[in-house]
Amino acid sequence: LRLCRALPKVELHAHLNGCVRPSTLLELAEECSRRGLLSLSDFQAAVIVKEDRSMEECFQLFGLIHLLTTDHCILTRITKEVIEDFAAENVVYLELRTTPKRNEAVGMTKRSYVEAVLAGIKAASTELSLDSYFDHKEDNIECPSQRYQRKANPQIHVRLLLSIDRRETLEAAMETVHLAWEMRDLGVVGVDLSGNPCIGDWETFLPALKWARQHGLPITLHCGEVPNPREVEAMLAFQPERVGHACFLESPDLSTLLANRIPVEICLTSNLLTNSVQRVRDHHFGALYNANHPVVLCTDDPGVFSISLSYEYALVSTHFGLSSLELLHLSRNAIEFTFAEDRLKQMLQSFFDGAKYAAE
Ligand code: IMP
Repeated sequence: LRLCRALPKVELHAHLNGCVRPSTLLELAEECSRRGLLSLSDFQAAVIVKEDRSMEECFQLFGLIHLLTTDHCILTRITKEVIEDFAAENVVYLELRTTPKRNEAVGMTKRSYVEAVLAGIKAASTELSLDSYFDHKEDNIECPSQRYQRKANPQIHVRLLLSIDRRETLEAAMETVHLAWEMRDLGVVGVDLSGNPCIGDWETFLPALKWARQHGLPITLHCGEVPNPREVEAMLAFQPERVGHACFLESPDLSTLLANRIPVEICLTSNLLTNSVQRVRDHHFGALYNANHPVVLCTDDPGVFSISLSYEYALVSTHFGLSSLELLHLSRNAIEFTFAEDRLKQMLQSFFDGAKYAAE
């Protein structure tokens, strides 16, 4: 695990409210309980009991977390903490995703929600003396490998995806994709479709997803998280830039995925804990990796599942026998599948090439 922690890593599938530190959740829950808004003991039971949580229970937990992370200051705080935690794991590029939410009680609109998250990104960048999106707009950017030599703190570059929740209406989804486009110069780089896979029909959101595509926004879809061949087939025919999970892909959908080389965001522990996959060694990571298909290891909800990205790399190393150099290649290859601007991709690739040279 120590080696995996030291490895520079790329995280492309992490839901903001699934990444919140349990200590922060408990602190926020205490505050809400003092104000009589929820029962602390119910909350503690839901947060602390982490083994064998079913998918339905996970989505219930998100409902509880959302009760706590409702105002702008809290959103800014959790975003900053999440970035600090990923930076401490040696994640050098983080593509965080979140569903913009309205909360009339505190004057929150979808736009102000995203602004609060962006403020968290900026705060983390300032406090950790990291690059922020704005630094990349300057002409004189340094290669991050040069900075690694000079700084004790790892560098992390953060970009944001805006998620559509399957419970939403088309109108709400439209608002999200419009926001993503309007905020594309502020670090928003794409759109995600997520939420409880047993709810709703993804085709409800097709007009919003098509609008995003027409406006040049890359799209990632949660695809095949539960068995639903009709949906999987239609999603793959849409040719998203990436898919998340891809647990239940049978032939001919699997052949379509492979033929189109659609990168898969692998969330190994998440799939195990929510029973989409029974054993690590049965996980489709192995087959995809061996077929040389583009894959990237991700955490999904490290706060909810009590895991880290380093842990996911260690799992793969133990169960699929990847060497440290193969893990480094796996991580480096993910840069190509990010939705980041080309210049940042090149910088990250040259940084990884320096790290590879050192590892050999
Ligand atoms: P948020 O978008 O920052 O509020 O992060 C939590 C949300 O991410 C949840 O309410 C879900 O909509 C979504 N999410 C988190 N994990 C999963 C997953 O495994 N599958 C589908 N959606 C998920």
